[in-house]
Amino acid sequence: MKVCKKKCIACGSCVGACPVEAISFVDGVAYIDKEKCIECGTCEAICPVEAITSKENENCQREEN
Ligand code: SF4
Ligand code: SF4
Repeated sequence: MKVCKKKCIACGSCVGACPVEAISFVDGVAYIDKEKCIECGTCEAICPVEAITSKENENCQREEN
């Protein structure tokens, strides 16, 4: 999983939802530790602004926000 830094509003929902505690805040936005992430999809589903995706951050690059 990857976090789009531009989209993340730092709501914190994903941090508590991750079963392996792979998510923390770095520079004010969510950061996913790839070494810990088991690609369960929980954070992707819970993020209110769809900032987390399993794909490369194509949308993140395209969109201003
Ligand atoms: S996909 Fe699952 S394991 Fe990976 S960061 Fe998200 S909640 Fe955590
Ligand atoms: S749930 Fe989405 S908006 Fe909230 S902290 Fe995580 S990545 Fe950012």
